[in-house]
Amino acid sequence: MSARHNSSPLTRQVTLTVLTLAAFALAIVVGFGFYAASQADDASLERQKMFIADGLQDKIAAVEREQESISVWDDSVINAKAGNQLWMTENLSVWMYTYYGHNRVYVLDSANHPIHAMREGKLVEVSAYGEDQPTLLPIIEKLRRMLAGPPQTDAHGQPMKMVAEDLVSLDGALAIVSVAPLVPSSDRVSQAQGTEYLHVSVEFISDAVVHKIAGKYLLEGARLVPLSEPVGPAAVPLVDSRGVILGHIGWDQLRPGLALVRKIAPALAIALLLAGGVLVFLLSRLRRASAALQTSQDQAQYLAFHDTLTGLPNRALFEDRLRRTLLFASKDGTRVALLYLDLDRFKHINDTLGHPAGDELVRQTAARLKHTIREVDTVARLGGDEFAIILLDVPDVGSAEDIADRLLMKLREPFRLIDDQVFVSASVGIALSSGSDTDADDLLRKTDIALYEAKKNGRGRYQVFAGDMDDLLLRKRKVESELRKALEGDGGIKLAYQPVFAADGHRILGAEALIRWGHEVHGALPAAQFIAIAEERGLIGDLGKWALSEACRFAAGTELPWIAVNISPMQLRDIGFAGQVAAILEETGLDPSRLQLETTESVLLEHNDTIGTVIAALRQSGVRIVLDDFGTGYSSLSYLRRQAIDKLKIDRSFVRLLDEDESARAIAKTLIELALALKVEVTAEGVETDAQKNLLVGMGCRQLQGYLLSPPLEPGRLLALPGISSADQERSAARA
Ligand code: C2E
Ligand code: MG
Ligand code: MG
Repeated sequence: MSARHNSSPLTRQVTLTVLTLAAFALAIVVGFGFYAASQADDASLERQKMFIADGLQDKIAAVEREQESISVWDDSVINAKAGNQLWMTENLSVWMYTYYGHNRVYVLDSANHPIHAMREGKLVEVSAYGEDQPTLLPIIEKLRRMLAGPPQTDAHGQPMKMVAEDLVSLDGALAIVSVAPLVPSSDRVSQAQGTEYLHVSVEFISDAVVHKIAGKYLLEGARLVPLSEPVGPAAVPLVDSRGVILGHIGWDQLRPGLALVRKIAPALAIALLLAGGVLVFLLSRLRRASAALQTSQDQAQYLAFHDTLTGLPNRALFEDRLRRTLLFASKDGTRVALLYLDLDRFKHINDTLGHPAGDELVRQTAARLKHTIREVDTVARLGGDEFAIILLDVPDVGSAEDIADRLLMKLREPFRLIDDQVFVSASVGIALSSGSDTDADDLLRKTDIALYEAKKNGRGRYQVFAGDMDDLLLRKRKVESELRKALEGDGGIKLAYQPVFAADGHRILGAEALIRWGHEVHGALPAAQFIAIAEERGLIGDLGKWALSEACRFAAGTELPWIAVNISPMQLRDIGFAGQVAAILEETGLDPSRLQLETTESVLLEHNDTIGTVIAALRQSGVRIVLDDFGTGYSSLSYLRRQAIDKLKIDRSFVRLLDEDESARAIAKTLIELALALKVEVTAEGVETDAQKNLLVGMGCRQLQGYLLSPPLEPGRLLALPGISSADQERSAARA
């Protein structure tokens, strides 16, 4: 399994989403903070502008008020009209300078001629007025018009103050100009309309004045900004009565929002850091969790496609790979070889050495297979002791055979299992894809058939699939299904009976039941052939049971001394077989002593406890055991000696040679003598000639069977033989 856990697409996606959301949230918080701060700053700026504008208005009003303190005064009217320069200096001009800081004062007569002039606390020539006149005249004239008109009242019904003021630019500086008539403060002095003298006060708006205005509202850096200079947002224009902008008052803008932001910035930074920390922590937790999830997903994936015992790909992965491999191979025009490998007698090892040893054997086999093939090839475990190997790019059958050979050799080396050293062989089936053919199922089937053939042909070998195997298999399948049908009561299966004769060749000692299948297609399929198929396909149990009951039922109704029934070794491996026989005897009413069971030598060679037990039980019940085809297998005299059987049948291959072969005669003679000495009965099978019969009788053989004496017969014909009659026959004879 790979170790790249921490960058799963899921983790990345989640991390990205969370980070995006966090960045978004941060942007909103910061953005909103700055927006709020700038809103607050804007509102504050508006207020600051209002303060400055109000301050300026207050200042103008102050100039007016200061002027009013001297303009509404009986003495002013009297002294001005009297041209009393000293008095005017002390009360109307220098006074105004020293007390209020008015920079210039002019006193004009009723014809607007200057009669008194003061600049910066000093009396000057009245001609000085001439310089300022062009600027001041409009204001003066405005007042004159007011004075000439009817007296006006304000909104509160109070008489309107007779004063005209304006902002002006004078000598390149900005100034507040206020013009008021000198009017009596009591009715002790009277003055005719139109004769008023005027008091003109000029106060320059200096930086000091501006400072004072701004200072009241705690605004700093206040200054006058001439028109020629640019102004910032924190500025109010100085506008004269005609709406002409003369300059600005500027100041250092107060930014409470920004100040607040600056103030809370460190705290905010710490909070953000904390939030970031929490986020990072959560993300790392998330990544760990998702990595763990990914790991378990990987694990599940691995388990779904691998065999836990060997770590090899399992059947699902194998089939998937095979299909892909075939697809690619057909595109490349290369060939693929598929090998099925199956350990021989694995079950035996499992049974005798135990399952842990069996598992160990499978593991070691897997390792050996893996090391023998190339990296690009695939070994998979299909289950039990079955392995499949996909070989890529195989030029011909020969190279696949070479690899199979190598694999078989590798497996022939001894295995060291838990406590034991064992030798194992394996069988291999091979099939090659044919160029453009990509049908995996077809290849699987062919390999399966080839393996089956390899096993059948003696194990420990490989077998390449050949075209006719297919037909054979198909035929077998066909036979199997027909046989099944026949067994299910379709009929067609019958028993023939071949009598066994005494040495005289006339007296019938008993008969052997031989199965016959009169199938319309498969014709008279030789018994040995379809018995073999039944054994292979697991039908032998049913078939054997049927033959046994049929034969017993038949024999029970006759006077035959005994009936012999052939039994497959497979039936004897079933521990319940003795019980089954007993049940059939019980059911058919045949005495156990009248039943003989024929089986082949191979059975007795198997060191199988079950078979020994079953045979012993059968013999115990009185059933006799006959060794069929004696001399064809690995004959062992030991079980003759142990008296584990009751009779042996000399195989017809010996009998056939008796006429011609001296040594065959010698062997037959020895066998018969040996059997007689051990008190085991002997039957000679396949007696076809008188010479054979005579020789056998001469050797002491007392039981003969063969075409010479009688072929296998239908039941009716057997019963027609002299010396045998069925119970039915007797009954019908009696009736007659
Ligand atoms: P087997 O038990 O050795 O049976 C004797 C075979 O030899 C029979 O063949 C029989 O027809 C044949 N035979 C008899 N006399 C002669 C002769 O003089 N010359 C020649 N050439 N052959 C002769 P069949 O019936 O084809 O049976 C073949 C084998 O099939 C039997 O060999 C037996 O092993 C098996 N078999 C038959 N019926 C059954 C059965 O019901 N159950 C089982 N398990 N096997 C059966
Ligand atoms: Mg037989
Ligand atoms: Mg035989």
